[in-house]
Amino acid sequence: MSIFVTRSSMPSYDDYINEIKPIFESHHLTNMGPVYKKLQHSLIDYLGVPYLSMFVNGHMALETVIQAMGLKNTGGEVITTPFTFVSTVHAITRNGLKPVFCDVKPDDYTIDPEKIEELITDKTVAIVPVHVYGNVCDVEAIEKIAEKHGLKVIYDAAHAFGVKYRGRGIGTYGDAAMFSFHATKVFNTIEGGAVAFKDESLRSSLHSLKNFGIKTEECVDEIGGNAKMDEFRAAMGICNLRNVEQCIKARGSVVERYNSRLGGVSGIKLMKPQENVTPNYAYYAVCFEPEEFGFTRDDVYEELQRNDIYARKYFYPAVNDMECYRELEHGDTPVSENISRRVLTLPLYSELSLEDTDRICDIILSMGKQEG
Ligand SMILES: *Cc1c(COP(=O)(O)O)cnc(C)c1O
Repeated sequence: MSIFVTRSSMPSYDDYINEIKPIFESHHLTNMGPVYKKLQHSLIDYLGVPYLSMFVNGHMALETVIQAMGLKNTGGEVITTPFTFVSTVHAITRNGLKPVFCDVKPDDYTIDPEKIEELITDKTVAIVPVHVYGNVCDVEAIEKIAEKHGLKVIYDAAHAFGVKYRGRGIGTYGDAAMFSFHATKVFNTIEGGAVAFKDESLRSSLHSLKNFGIKTEECVDEIGGNAKMDEFRAAMGICNLRNVEQCIKARGSVVERYNSRLGGVSGIKLMKPQENVTPNYAYYAVCFEPEEFGFTRDDVYEELQRNDIYARKYFYPAVNDMECYRELEHGDTPVSENISRRVLTLPLYSELSLEDTDRICDIILSMGKQEG
């Protein structure tokens, strides 16, 4: 049977049917109804964040919070990294802002705070760091830089659902944090996303910007889009949230197995667990050093495919190498470039059996024994 890089978590059929029954009675399908509110409160509680606004997806949550902060079309520059999913950079660009690429750290692939300040100009308005693979950015250093230069910090926490740093929910760091609830993420609402934020005054703006800028029945005072989460997706979220702790635990067992099998192998670089972090085991990313391992990342990717196993080159290419951003002038980001050529995320989901995890490891390890 094929093994894909991920498999969406789903509740039992009966559980979901129970949760959507009231929608069939009320005919209240969308526009922040009772199911939306129920999930919103549960998530505020689970994530430990002060405020949360839910969206049709994570991308629109990020794009909209940038607008809600008054940054849209100001001609400003926003510092982010090229080692991310393209959505991060699109959210900046689609707000009429200019993305400025900062390199990442070689150990956890998050933004390198030592390289941020040299990129700040009088046009810089914000930093959008990414908690890559659920790894926590250097939030303290970033906060210091942002305070010193009066910049907003908006985290792309799409990978970091449920992650805690120093016992605090990851969504409490920065001015705002975006979570993705896409089908492939640790927690899903089929499609969906949210933005967690500190400043209460953002609440009404986010609320109206995801609903055409409608403030009251007769007042439209902002140019908003339509990005509301509907009741059926919220119901999926309520069901999935009941199981999320168990899912994270099961992912942890797979990660532990991968670590024990692939750890210490010459030419295979694993992610190091971070200190003071409660992880969510969102991704299992491995870097292959062909000089030592004897094979490139692409060789491993193809060998797994021959065995009906589908890993993902994630993130490759780096965003600055994509057709739509190639023309953008930017400085060198050698670490990002290097990692994007070597990294492979291996299959990881809560239902992946340890037997299948072993099979994946066996295939990789048997390559390492051959002549490259
Ligand atoms: C998934 C993802 C997004 C976009 O979220 P969607 O819910 O798919 O719109 C943004 N950034 C990163 C890093 C992601 O992984």
